[in-house]
Amino acid sequence: MQQPWLLARPEVDLDRVRRHATEHFGLGGEYRELGSQQDRNYLVSAESGAGALLKIHHPVVTGEIVSLQAAVAERYRDAGLATPALLRTSDGDISVPITLPDGREAQMCAFALVDGSTLADLEAVDGAAAEHLGGFVGRAVDALRNLDHPSADREIQWELTLAPRVVAELLHELPGDRRDACLAAARRAAAHLEALDDLPRQIIHGDLTADNIMRDSSGVSWIIDLGDVAQSWRIAELAVLVADIMGRTGDLTIACRAVRGFSQQVAEAGFALTDDELDALWPLVVLRGAVLAVSGWSQLRIDPANDYARERIEHEWQVFSRTAGLAHDDVVAQLRLAAGRAHRRGLEYAPILTEQRSARVIDLGIRSADLDRGRWTSPSIETDLAREALAAAPVAVMRFGESRLTRVSTDVSAPAPTKARCVDLWSRPGVSVHAPFSGVLTRVGEIIELTDGGVTLRFDGLEADAAGIDVPDQGRPVSSGAVIGRIAERVPGLGRLRMLRRAMGAAPDPAFGAAGDEYAVAGAADPSPILGVPACPDPILRLREERRRRDRAMGGAAERYYAEPPQIERGWGAILIDTEGRAYLDMVNNVTAIGHAHPRLADAVGRQLHLLNTNSRFLYEAYADFTERLLAHAPDPTLDTVIPVNSGSEAVDLAIRLAQAATGRRDVIAALEGYHGWTMAADSVSTSAYDNPSALDSRPDWVHLVDAPNAYRGPHRGAGAGAAYARQVADRAAQLAEAGHGPAAFICEPVLGNAGGVIPPEGYLAGAYAAVREHGGLAIADEVQVGYGRLGAAFWGSEMQGVVPDIIAVAKAAGNAYPIGAVITRRDIVDALRRDGMFFSSAAGAPASAVAGATVIDVIVDEGLQENALLVGAVFAERIEELAARHPLIGAVHGSGLYRGIELVRDRESLEPAVEETAWICERLLDFGVIVQPASERQNVLKVKPPMTFGLRDVDVFVAAFEAVLTELGKRERRSLGEGFEEAL
Ligand code: PMP
Repeated sequence: MQQPWLLARPEVDLDRVRRHATEHFGLGGEYRELGSQQDRNYLVSAESGAGALLKIHHPVVTGEIVSLQAAVAERYRDAGLATPALLRTSDGDISVPITLPDGREAQMCAFALVDGSTLADLEAVDGAAAEHLGGFVGRAVDALRNLDHPSADREIQWELTLAPRVVAELLHELPGDRRDACLAAARRAAAHLEALDDLPRQIIHGDLTADNIMRDSSGVSWIIDLGDVAQSWRIAELAVLVADIMGRTGDLTIACRAVRGFSQQVAEAGFALTDDELDALWPLVVLRGAVLAVSGWSQLRIDPANDYARERIEHEWQVFSRTAGLAHDDVVAQLRLAAGRAHRRGLEYAPILTEQRSARVIDLGIRSADLDRGRWTSPSIETDLAREALAAAPVAVMRFGESRLTRVSTDVSAPAPTKARCVDLWSRPGVSVHAPFSGVLTRVGEIIELTDGGVTLRFDGLEADAAGIDVPDQGRPVSSGAVIGRIAERVPGLGRLRMLRRAMGAAPDPAFGAAGDEYAVAGAADPSPILGVPACPDPILRLREERRRRDRAMGGAAERYYAEPPQIERGWGAILIDTEGRAYLDMVNNVTAIGHAHPRLADAVGRQLHLLNTNSRFLYEAYADFTERLLAHAPDPTLDTVIPVNSGSEAVDLAIRLAQAATGRRDVIAALEGYHGWTMAADSVSTSAYDNPSALDSRPDWVHLVDAPNAYRGPHRGAGAGAAYARQVADRAAQLAEAGHGPAAFICEPVLGNAGGVIPPEGYLAGAYAAVREHGGLAIADEVQVGYGRLGAAFWGSEMQGVVPDIIAVAKAAGNAYPIGAVITRRDIVDALRRDGMFFSSAAGAPASAVAGATVIDVIVDEGLQENALLVGAVFAERIEELAARHPLIGAVHGSGLYRGIELVRDRESLEPAVEETAWICERLLDFGVIVQPASERQNVLKVKPPMTFGLRDVDVFVAAFEAVLTELGKRERRSLGEGFEEAL
């Protein structure tokens, strides 16, 4: 008999293919052949345009089958699932026949290219990825429901209802030592299938694996290769994915996550897998493995030159071998639980506690409102919350899979075990506990286990004796619903029953896992379906979606930290916490001056939002509360006027405008390498090469640049550097005056924030200010980064330098990341602006912003944060200097107080910037729980500007982590930094 499944790739005449493709699809250009089992695929790089994928189908694929594929593609698109567009011929057709050298006719199609990579190339499959894929496949199945097509009944080797026949007929192709195992497993699987008759049929893709799903640069997943589309069993679509995951990971727990994702997705779509489908799933997985195994070898025999088939052969055998050995009944029990069903057909779990149905879920997640105001740091918080919940309900539940904020450690050095692998049921002590299913009860030390087949439920906090139950070592059978003990008292008046599930005899998991451990990778066995309580969605799934969501919405120009950023959803003091319950020490947040989630600020702003938040033209108290407080901190009584704005960029912009209005001039002298903001004027005086590499070529004619006063690595160093840099300002001002348009202003950060806290050399600002004033200009201090007490020694950078500016720009710290900034200046200068019109910015100084601004200043004063910055900053610098004695990479510690820059150099003489090392250190420090970023023009300075609540313990944590990372770096050869280093970033 002719076996319809033995299809070698057709021989083609490439010249002819090219001519045909050019004529019908307009696809000239270069052709590169891509791998395929039985078709010919070419990547065509077009002479002009986007290029395409050209496919010469095997001759068995008729035009009707191409139309079936097109119908499927359309359904996918209608359901919001991307799939490459079929290009049309000049006659508007989706395929065109081509005659092959052997006289047969084949269909030629062309597809638009997808700019992305297959999931198989992009990422290893972990539990979250598997769950996501399962959901995706669920959507694909749903998209094709009720689709009819006359050509959908296809006899192809991949159509799984035919698998037993395909395996039997191709078995001889396998190497001899593999045949028996393959045949036996396929027969067993086929026997299981024979007993099932409720297997819904529909058209499916038939090959939805990580090889056939691509992800593009904006995070969109694409379904490719519709070559195996056919009418089949619906469940076969999931079986193909599960087989693929087993082949890649060999981990049934991960495969179960795909089943979970699929089941949840189809439930949302309004249908559920039938019991027969759940029974059929595993046999189909095994059969898929067997088909892959036999077909790989047969393909090689009929098409020995097919490298694509050759390369895949061992992987395909692995799919089979990793599935065939597992005990059918035990696996089905796990798959059923993953699908949210009882582990046996027809089984209904008895409630463990009689009053369980009215249980209340306690939210211990990172964003839980019950844990605000630092409540999560209390050691007794879980029992406190349980007690509160039990005042309102007989039973309280803490969920499986939740990253519990209550277990986040403020010691950031290693991830704490926060992820619950257990379910906790809280209740009064002494309450009877019932067996949820019939099984065997055994005692393992303090723990009692109930086992049925491959399913084991472990109880911690269960007293069997108290209910008169004897649990012998060899176990005793119990039936579903029987009392198996009582809940032990955990703390006075409170009992806690903790339950974990063990799958198929696996070793018990600890009750909590840490981010990044094998549980995070797989996702341990979840007891929730047995207990009838909800599980917590996996935060890793959410995190990945969040990364894609952000990329989709923001495009490429928006900056963000880290290649693979954690999802930070809570802060506290100088600590940031991600959704997996990992805490980090925040070293970069000068915006959050008074620390994260400061209750006083949250209360004040929250209260104001309840009262009023409106545009700032109304009269209300908060406006003056803020501006008066700011003026109270002004560095000189001559600075007597404040205009609130929304951001640092606006503050600088307004400062420049004020100077221009007051002097009636345009020209501004600015120091190089600075960053002052993104608005037109602020950007014009910004030349930081990191922020804008071509800044120097594009400054407007009113901007005049002088060297950054950096006595560490600039042109002037050592004694006299301050005067030398100031002379540049003086010379420039004089030139401008001579040319008949003297300077309106000189702008500079009083401490060079962008350079990493470099303090200008002695006498610089005094000299520069005097020079610009001599020529009728004004001095602008951009204190957006360094002002507000952070420098410790003074509230303002200019104060530290012994100068009084004419205009000060502030923001960042001013609102603790609430959008408020200000310009502080003299009345006469503001009056000059009035001549040009009034100043108004809707939300600048609006009630809530102004309250934020006033509260921040109060907190800085009341909590002595400037003093803290002075003290802790000095210790910090000392400790880094100590490290520098041992680590030559540390070239200098710049700055003052808690505005510091650790400059890293490859050589202390040449000062060659250690750029790659700095980037690597920042990424690596994240693993140590420390968030720090590179700064400066050269990106070789670690910027250290933590919340001003940063304490001595935090210094210890940073120094220990930094030292460990420096030591690790020292062990790497310089050469290895140059190579493989880039990829490591
Ligand atoms: N000036 C300086 C010195 C800055 O560092 C920044 C921001 N990094 C700005 C102005 C602009 O502030 P914003 O981002 O609030 O607009």
